[in-house]
Amino acid sequence: MPDPSSRISVLLPLPLGGRYDYQVTLESDYPPGAVIEVPFGGRKVTGVVWGPGEGIIPDSKLKTAGSVLPLPLMTASLRQFVDRVAAYTLTSPGAVLRMVLNTPKAFSPERGHFLYKIPSDGPIFLKSPIRQRIINFLADGAKRSISEIAQNVGCSSGLIKTMAKAGELVPIAAPPAAPFSRPKTNTNIIFSPPQERAAQVLRETMREGTFSATLLEGVTGSGKTEVYFEAIAAVIAQEQQSLVLLPEIALTTQWLDRFVARFGVKPAIWHSDLSAAQRRITWRAIAEGGAPVVIGARSALFLPFPDLGLIVVDEEHEAAYKQEDGVIYHARDMAVLRAHIAKHPIILVSATPSLETLANVEADKYRRLHLPNRHGNAQLPHITAVDMRKYPPPRGHFLSPPLAQALQQNFEQKGQSLLFLNRRGYAPLTLCRSCGHRLQCPNCTAWLVEHRQINRLQCHHCGYALRIPQTCPQCQAVDSFTACGPGVERLAEEAAILLPKARIALMTSDNIANAAAAEGLIHDMIHGKIDLLIGTQIIAKGHHFPALTLVGIVDADLGLAGGDLRAAERTFQLLNQVAGRAGREDRPGQVFLQTYDPSQPVIAALAEGSEENFLTQEMNARKAATMPPYGKLAALILSASNEKLVDQACRDLAAKIPHEEGIIILGPAPAPLAILRRRHRRRFLLKSAKNLSLQSVIKKWIKEIRLPRTVRLQVDIDPYSFL
Ligand code: ADP
Ligand code: ZN
Repeated sequence: MPDPSSRISVLLPLPLGGRYDYQVTLESDYPPGAVIEVPFGGRKVTGVVWGPGEGIIPDSKLKTAGSVLPLPLMTASLRQFVDRVAAYTLTSPGAVLRMVLNTPKAFSPERGHFLYKIPSDGPIFLKSPIRQRIINFLADGAKRSISEIAQNVGCSSGLIKTMAKAGELVPIAAPPAAPFSRPKTNTNIIFSPPQERAAQVLRETMREGTFSATLLEGVTGSGKTEVYFEAIAAVIAQEQQSLVLLPEIALTTQWLDRFVARFGVKPAIWHSDLSAAQRRITWRAIAEGGAPVVIGARSALFLPFPDLGLIVVDEEHEAAYKQEDGVIYHARDMAVLRAHIAKHPIILVSATPSLETLANVEADKYRRLHLPNRHGNAQLPHITAVDMRKYPPPRGHFLSPPLAQALQQNFEQKGQSLLFLNRRGYAPLTLCRSCGHRLQCPNCTAWLVEHRQINRLQCHHCGYALRIPQTCPQCQAVDSFTACGPGVERLAEEAAILLPKARIALMTSDNIANAAAAEGLIHDMIHGKIDLLIGTQIIAKGHHFPALTLVGIVDADLGLAGGDLRAAERTFQLLNQVAGRAGREDRPGQVFLQTYDPSQPVIAALAEGSEENFLTQEMNARKAATMPPYGKLAALILSASNEKLVDQACRDLAAKIPHEEGIIILGPAPAPLAILRRRHRRRFLLKSAKNLSLQSVIKKWIKEIRLPRTVRLQVDIDPYSFL
């Protein structure tokens, strides 16, 4: 008799995992995309059927596949997306699938939620008084939930279940509540002519429903959000799902309020801080097509939408879209890939688009829609560069006289102010006054940062913390440590002396550990309970503070120091964002940029409003150097706790460096963060023209090298961090 069984290939969500063949009796019971349980290395693993078996494992070693889980099939486009992301980032498909299947609790259907009633042939009479009370309570024949019965009768929920088992009560499965309701699509917003033109194009684009990428560009406050809401409304009307990616998911209360005001319901939310129960409900609802709109952090890109019609990437220029560990990927770029594979539109939104996106507009790959003005009467703020060489602050202070004066004046006129300094803690550097000894992290190549509010020195890379020592470990001098330079805490001290009557608040990732704390501060700011808000880049993003009229950027040069490839671009985007917080409603805003060199292109562009010039210069410089977006980069990062091993691995790799036309390979060199969490780090950097595939070169190169288990090799395609 011929063997009736056949093989399927299953992708397992394991870090180094690939596809494995399993035996099944009937292939048609295991369609591609089915989520199934299989035995693997002595345990059960949940994987996805990827296709027919590949026949590499001999029949004798083949294991039998387990059961198919009651989940919708994973779409062909999502499976293709997993493979393509893996190929692009040079990671295993299993590691990418893991990002899709990271909510195992959602794989089984929600455990039956039951209602109870008395048997249809009437109540039975029972001896136990408590049981009798339950029967009496249900004597009207209605179905009631366990909690309702327990509360009214004063019994345990266990007793109700026991009675159901004994046939004294009848359990009835309650229909599951739809967790996310359908948004309303009509609106009473009246768009300005440029807004309406953009909205019209987007509505049509959604109707076409094929792949296209659109950049929606416009100054902060120009109505970009309102306009892309129109695209979402169109997709809802088509009964498809929309995904909105946001960079700072913890700080989106205002975005959610706007959404509710427009659509009447809350969207599904996806980020890493969800409770396990929320995660399960949300993942499942999305997989079943029951969440019309999902807003999420970059990880939401790997959710199993069965019928996605649109992806919006808001603040598309944000570096937070780059995931720097595990699978190293850029969520904006992978979002474009997903839209392309699944053949639906994508909208990239920004006031200061990335050069990558602008280059794609220039090459006619993306369409550009532009909103030129702020909505209503709001004007863009007036920006002044303060030359710190001409107006130095007093010794030990960090606010120049012009900015200090403006702060006082604004306070007297009951305006709200904001000071921006991208440095957490009290001071970036602490050193001994007698011998110059600096306090360094024992695990990282980094200085310890003083956090005076908690009386600690902290490493911002590994979290190492230490009480500020009384004596210098180098020269034993007592109480000799002194703070160098400003952090936001120190700035708050200076501001409190300058504005003794003002209500001053600090906002950094240190004091808004959770979303509720952030919401509290934002609420106070919106309702005028704060006169001066001081913070790091966390205050730069998205917030709409109606009464904010003065913004001071304490150190506009900060991001330009150390200059990696995108230092100028990033500083430009960040300062533009911060400046854009001022004057969002009727009262005009003003911005002071403190700088030691007002002639730097970034500063000059912001102060003169000549942004186009800056971008053109920056683009030309990148073109001339064939740097991204006009060339490609990739990095190899090797690390190990044993320095000799990592150096040996580097020598092995260096010996096999591929010599290919058009590819330059630099390194190995110690990374700027040469030691991170006690691991020694070395970097190679590859550079090529745009039309070459760095991936295939790297693949061939590293395939020849056997690394010791303790040496880790990470490949970073399109690196954004060069540390
Ligand atoms: P952006 O996303 O470009 O920063 P928003 O969409 O957040 O701009 O709009 C800024 C503010 O102006 C919001 O409070 C928004 O509700 C309001 N707004 C924008 N366009 C209109 C309009 N046509 N009618 C009424 N309010 C609008
Ligand atoms: Zn450290």
